[in-house]
Parts: sequence; C-alpha cells; structure tokens
Amino acid sequence: MARCLWCIGLSLLFGLLLPILVLAHQIIRHELHVVLQPDHHILQVTDSITLPETLPPSGAAPRYFTLHAGLSPLPLTAGVQLVRQPTATLPVPGDSHASASESRLPLERYAVILPAGTRAFALQYQGAIRHASPQQSPQDAWSMPELSGMLATEGIYLSGTTYWYPRFDDELVTFTLDVQLPLTWEVVSQGERTRHERVNDATYLRWESSAVQEDIYLVGGPLTEYRQSAGPVQAMVFLRTPDAPLAQKYLDATAQYLGLYTSMLGPYPYPKFALVENSWESGYGMPSFTLLGSKVIRLPFIVSSSYPHEILHNWWGNGVFVDVQQGNWCEGLTAYLADHLLQEQRGSAIAYRRATLQRYTDYVAVHSEIPLTAFRARHSAATAAIGYGKALMFFHMLRQQIGDNAFISALQAFYRNNLFQRADFNALHRAFASVTGEDMSEVFQQWVTRPGAPELRISATTVQADGQDYRLSAVLDQGQPGPAYRLHVPLAVSLQGQKQAWQTNVLMAEKRLEFTLRLPAKPWRVDVDPEFDLMRRLHREEIPPALTQLFGADKVLLLLPAAAADEIKQGYRQFAQAWLQASSQALAIRWDQEIEALPTDRAVWLFGWENRFLPEVTTALTPYDIGLTHEGVRLEGTPLTREQHAVVLTVRHPRDPQQTLAWTAAQNVAALPGLGRKLPHYGTYSFLGFAGDEPVNIVKGQWPVLASPMSVLLTPATGSPPQEAATQLAPRRPLMSLP
Ligand SMILES: [Zn+2]
Repeated sequence: MARCLWCIGLSLLFGLLLPILVLAHQIIRHELHVVLQPDHHILQVTDSITLPETLPPSGAAPRYFTLHAGLSPLPLTAGVQLVRQPTATLPVPGDSHASASESRLPLERYAVILPAGTRAFALQYQGAIRHASPQQSPQDAWSMPELSGMLATEGIYLSGTTYWYPRFDDELVTFTLDVQLPLTWEVVSQGERTRHERVNDATYLRWESSAVQEDIYLVGGPLTEYRQSAGPVQAMVFLRTPDAPLAQKYLDATAQYLGLYTSMLGPYPYPKFALVENSWESGYGMPSFTLLGSKVIRLPFIVSSSYPHEILHNWWGNGVFVDVQQGNWCEGLTAYLADHLLQEQRGSAIAYRRATLQRYTDYVAVHSEIPLTAFRARHSAATAAIGYGKALMFFHMLRQQIGDNAFISALQAFYRNNLFQRADFNALHRAFASVTGEDMSEVFQQWVTRPGAPELRISATTVQADGQDYRLSAVLDQGQPGPAYRLHVPLAVSLQGQKQAWQTNVLMAEKRLEFTLRLPAKPWRVDVDPEFDLMRRLHREEIPPALTQLFGADKVLLLLPAAAADEIKQGYRQFAQAWLQASSQALAIRWDQEIEALPTDRAVWLFGWENRFLPEVTTALTPYDIGLTHEGVRLEGTPLTREQHAVVLTVRHPRDPQQTLAWTAAQNVAALPGLGRKLPHYGTYSFLGFAGDEPVNIVKGQWPVLASPMSVLLTPATGSPPQEAATQLAPRRPLMSLP
C-alpha cells in the first residue's frame, strides 16, 4: 500500500479567506483555562490575552477577533468593551476541496476596545462545539475531510480552524493551557506537559508552549499513556486501546528518528513528541505530536514510512512555518528527507524517483500545471504530484548540483535562521546561495516559479573510432513548450568489456545540445538520466503500463461483463458506480455487449473473467509472458485463481500504445468494495493480486520497461549486443544512514 496519510497539519490554517491584515511577527499570548464536558459537547474557557506591544495605542482602532459561534464571550477585565459585529457565515479556512465546499463553520466576529494603556485582558466564554464526524469517500484517497472540530464522548479535536479561542489575525501565539477533564481522559497540545494530576473525579493537565506557534491544539479522549525519554526529549504514545508492545515500537522509533534528524538538521525544537491515536482514520502532523488513525498505526510499515515523515514535519512546517501565500515548500522537503531517504537506505531510490515522475507525467495534464509557488496543500493526485513530487525532485536536483555536504549545510542554515518564523522559497534560496556562494537565481526561478517540466529526447547517436579511443556523438532536445531549462543531464555509457558504466553529466542550456564524448573503449549503449535524477516528463515508453494512467486519464470507459452471473454483474456495477461518483474523470459505464470494438480515444477498464474483450488483454500481455488463461494467472510466481483471488492488470491498448487498458476480475463479490477503496493506493503498479473479502494484497509489481527512448543501443543490429551483461552504475550513498 502506498502512502495513505496526508499531512495537513498547519496547512489547515493556510489560505484563510477572512479579510486579514497581515502583521509580521505579531505574537499574542493566551493563558487558557478550560473545563471540558464531553457528554454535553460543552467547553468552558477563561482566556487571559496579552496583545503585542507594537499594537496601536488604545483609543485608536479597535482590535477584531473571530470565535466559534455560540460561545457568548464576556470581558472579565474592567473597562474592556466587546462589540459583536454583523453576522456572517464564514467559509471554513483552508477548505479548497470541492466535495467539502458546502461545509461552513458558524463563526462570530467581535471588536474589542481596550482602555488606554491596556494590552492585557481576560475573556470568559462557554458553549457547545458539535459538528458531524469526518467522512471520507472510499475512492478519494487524495482528499482529507476538513474537520471543523469535535467535542464528544469519543474524543476532542480543537484547532485554530475550530476558532475555539479568539483569533485576531493570522497572528503567532504563545500559550499556557490548563484543562480539567474526565478522569479517564488525556489531552495533548503543543509543547510540554507541566501538570498531570487526578483529583477526586477529574484529571487536571497543563500544557504550555513558550515556543511561538501558529495555532493552539487541544486533542485527546479516553487514552492510555506510555512514555520514555529520548535524550532531552520526552517520547509519548497515547492509545485508545492499551497495547504496550505497539507503544514500545513507536517510542523506540521516535528516539531513532529524532536522533537522525537532529544530527542532520539541528536540534529538535520541542520538549516532547507524541503519537496520539485518533478516533477516526487520519494522518495529521502537528507541532510536537501526530494524530493517526487506529488502523493506520497498526499497519506494520507505518512506523518506518509515514511516521518518520510526521516526525520530520517538526523541522519543516511545524518548526520553520510555511508562508503559504508564496507556496508550500514543506511537503516536498519532508518527502525528500523522509520518504526518499528511507528508500535510499533500502536501495530503492531510483524506483521511487521513477514512480514520482510517473505520477507527474500521468496525473498532471500540461494545461493544469502550476508552479511550486502556487501549491498550498494537496487536494488531488495532480496537486500531490506537483507539491510533493516535483518539489522533492527539485531538492534532489539541488543536492546533485552542490553535493551532499553543502546541501545539508544549507538546510541547517535555513532551519537555524527561520525556526518559529514563516518562511518561503526565497528564504530557502538565500540559505542555499549563502552556503554555496553561488548565484542560484536561475535554478530557483526555473523550478519554483515556472510551471511545467522539461521533456528530453536523444537522437542522432553515432560512434567513431579515434585512434585508441572512440567518439560518441549525439543530440539532446528539450521538447516542452516555452524556453529551455538549464539542465545537468546525466549520461551513462556502456563500454565493451567493462562492467562499470562510463558516467558523466552534460550541461544543456539551450533547447538543443549536440555533444561528443571521448571514450576509452567502444560504446554499445547510452542511457540518458538512467537514475531519474531530473525533474522531467517521462516518455510513455519509459513508464510501465500502470494504474496511474487509468486514474489520470481524462476519459475512461468502464466495460462490465454481460455474460457474468447476476450476483457478479451486480457487484461490478456497484463498484463502477461508486467509482463514478467519487471520480473527477469523465467516466462512462457500459456492458461489453453494447459495443463492437474497444475505443482508442480513452482509457478502458474491463471487468470480469467473462468480459468478451478479455482476449485483447491477453494479446497485449504477450511481451510479459505470464500465461493468462480462463482458470487463472501466475504473477511473479504467485498463482492467482479465478475462484479465489481478485486480479488487476494494466496493459497498453493493443491498437494505441498511448492508451491504457486495465482489467479487474473477482468472482468473490464481497471483495469488490474493499478493492475499490484500496486501488487508489496502488497507482504505480502494473499488476496486483488480492485474496479474501477485505481483500488483502498478496502480489504487486510493475512490468519491465522494454524499450525506453532514453536508452539507445549503439551496436549494429546484426551484431549481438551484449545487453545481458548489464553495466553497473557507480554506487551512491544515502544522504544519511540511520544511527
Ligand atoms: Zn507531509
């Protein structure tokens, strides 16, 4: 399963639609005393607020704040006046996802007028916070329900977007938070817990953050706590169902990854890190804690995949904040230093980068490309392919260009100079330029502010003997619209009699580059960007047929088998209709008997062993030699039978290799709903096999790439090209090893 988590964390606050006066470095202090009554959804709060000194003196303009509706705030400080402003329903901040666009949070706006010389005052308020639980549509793996806030017997989730405390502008805050809550409850916020007492029939907690924050969280419920120290940091785990071995696994992993990133980037910026089990499936990264769903935390691979990603967000996003108006750089950087680094440590970074470029190529239509400066948060496969994928490739190219040491030094400087402040790509640019002493304007401009990606092509390869040596000449072209990108294009040349490839980079500053390489032995093959080091659109032939092409296609025809048994037909029809409802693609559903031939103007998704177009799939599978029969198929040695397994295959359309043909079959109808939920997480795969009703994935893989236009064989066809003696590329070291 691919990543099923998405980090919204502080990005929830981004893209506020309120009329905001942006005041840089305004820090407001809140001292909150909160009593929770979850049975009644009720919250009672006293908030002592200290406004910044730099505010206009009183008697001048009033200050305005926004608060969740129905909390009836009253001033407790003599002389302070509160004036409710005309009612307006405000959009949920940060909610850019279409499916949630109807949701509106009831908010109230107040003017506060302070006596002369006063900048500290207290408010008291109370009321109910009651919103529907988050729902996620099964196919829509890329959207995360925006949560307005929750206060109920199953748990509490309050954040800045709940407006559960008075929010003035997009100010930064420091706070103390005293909470009285039911005896069996625990709550977590940012910073450090400095009180934890059970008195009579209640629990009393205090959390405080002296570090500047963008938001104040109050998250928890009936939880069991585990903790151990990780050097100077307290590692904590809060579980809804006690499970000491699971907690221990996360406590140990916390120490391990805090150690890794502290040595790479600089000290972890908080006194604790907590894993909090959520009452719904989520993957949020907040400052000094992460809120993960019950299923998610029990998936065995999360502790070494999504978990380090969430921990690293305490440096990027929750340590250095994102000035999102200038583009969200933190997801790409976090993905690069967590997800990509872990793949490097496992020796699978090349496949990871190819899959990253594959998603960009398949999901991002040329007309819908946006620059990194326009990325806010992911709300579709296409925006994820840009804000995570293209951004992580940008950081990878920076590292290739300046070397590992300078790359890490620049990130350390960026962290040191911007901790607890909002930073943008310009701040990154300054850090990289100052560490390298180079003018890096062009590289930032072409990757960060320009939309799109280059398309590379090699042609006109010739080889000539030159004394003892050989000359290899070729032409590289950039085929994308618009001006040239300045690229350091990696080349690997296979030489006769040599195991190790001859590797170099050529600098390409124009759209066409003719180059000649002088080589010590006869070359028989040249590979352009063989390790997928460049951000670029891949050629169709560089990408194996995969579900990304089906999910990324503008138009898809779903063809159901009319000859199947009624129960099976019904199962496929429900699957197709659920997909239709959740998808933003132009989808049409037909029975196979209704059409004469497969169309070539769209992706086609066939269903069922009984589908009359199944022979087209069999034909297209010929190069891969997997022996699909009417009884079953064998994939990577795993037999899948017609009766017991669900099978998903993708191939190129036999009559148009630009189009994708997919086939899905499951005689076990009970497996189909689960299959529909799971498939979006397997986009980059060519073939999949599942067992059982859930169903559980038992085999997955990609077809080999048979003829990449970026690999050119140089020996004449009559000779026997020594392809089998695959040449090796120089080994690379991961950016860091795990301690
Ligand atoms: Zn993230």
